[in-house]
Amino acid sequence: MYDTLFRDIGHLMLEPGSETSNAWLAVSDGRVAAVGTAGTEPEAAETRSLGGRLVTPGLINTHHHIYQNLTRSYGPVVNGSLFDWLTGLYPIWSMLDEEAVYVSTYIGLTELLLGGCTTSTDHLYVHPRPNLIDAQIRAADDIGFRFYPTRGSMSLSVKDGGLPPDSVTQTADVILEDSERLVKRYHDPKPGAMIRIGLAPCSPFSVDDTLMRATAELAEKHDVRMHTHLAEDTDEHTFCLEKYGRTPVEHFEDVGWAGPRSWVAHFIFPSDVEARRLATAGVGVAHCPSSNMLIGGGTARVQTLREHGVAVGLGCDGSASTDHASMWLEARTALLLARFQGGPTAMTARNALDIATVGSARCLGWDDELGQLTVGSVADLVAWHLDPVSLAGALSDPVEALLRCGPGRAWTTVVNGKVVVDEGQPISAVLPDMLREHRRIATRMQKAVLT
Ligand code: ZN
Repeated sequence: MYDTLFRDIGHLMLEPGSETSNAWLAVSDGRVAAVGTAGTEPEAAETRSLGGRLVTPGLINTHHHIYQNLTRSYGPVVNGSLFDWLTGLYPIWSMLDEEAVYVSTYIGLTELLLGGCTTSTDHLYVHPRPNLIDAQIRAADDIGFRFYPTRGSMSLSVKDGGLPPDSVTQTADVILEDSERLVKRYHDPKPGAMIRIGLAPCSPFSVDDTLMRATAELAEKHDVRMHTHLAEDTDEHTFCLEKYGRTPVEHFEDVGWAGPRSWVAHFIFPSDVEARRLATAGVGVAHCPSSNMLIGGGTARVQTLREHGVAVGLGCDGSASTDHASMWLEARTALLLARFQGGPTAMTARNALDIATVGSARCLGWDDELGQLTVGSVADLVAWHLDPVSLAGALSDPVEALLRCGPGRAWTTVVNGKVVVDEGQPISAVLPDMLREHRRIATRMQKAVLT
């Protein structure tokens, strides 16, 4: 007897190259236990009909700054450069506390669930007060989300030639001590983990080279992964040349980060030679197409990176830069952007979904059980609401239709075998309270700066 039987699946994507129609999927102990075709359904303690919908593996988000949803579409900076944008927002983010981070994480993870995301990393790199990542983990635990927070950090403030004010930077000792504390307390390397921790200095222009090296050593010691922004912006390129006398990628290599333990966000401006070197080193890339397009500074050459063998995953990036946090929309944007750049054969909907599932899982070093729905994989899946108006006439290929027609919203989201979005709605009973709190906190923080 299985725990849950999901029946009446119109079309089921199991893994790249493996799909089936008129299917069912059985779950036990948080894992995919069996898959079959209609007419052979087994017994289960609970049975749910998915109403003929398309089911995919849950999408995986490899780059985000969830706290930024407190400053979404913040008017004074919406048309600035990346550096304008950062310097305009740091004073607001310096007000973050445990309550603000808990509530923004609760809302952010709920938003991700509605867009079909079942695992997300997060990159919280401003720590004006202690224990902010602990608050994030409480929120993920309360929702039942598979969460991979990274301990972000900034140590170079304005007085050191960096961008952020002193109020959001920390010393290397404080950063490393807290990083080790979080890994020891929360990182779960076991299969099926609900929480894993990574280490994530913000970028080459906000952390000095000593801290980059020490972080790499700490990651090696505890066998955890490393994440940072890399080659995102031309200003970063200029900064690295002036401060270190080398490009951002050369700096990244010099401080001991060019290995399979690392995945980086954006990676827009490497030279061809640098891109090949990091591909050979095994560094993964979080592609963030919406963020790149909104900031307008270019975008990663995803097809080339994939041809080089790079693990390319998908990231929505922070809610203040991308504004939305829908991985469905991010997958669609990746599809459109690739075809805009490379023509109609540059990317298919299946390629985009592969990036959002198995590609992202590879970035996180977790592709042995995430990003697919084969027997034994974790039971993280999405049944998509196929809106009858938007999908009218889309009869031949439900996967292409999902990303082309939209709007895509999860009808049922399942994490670790548990339904967390049902009939298009989060099951959370406290969501209305959380939204009220979110509005109160965001208003307080934004008003404090404007007045
Ligand atoms: Zn980012």
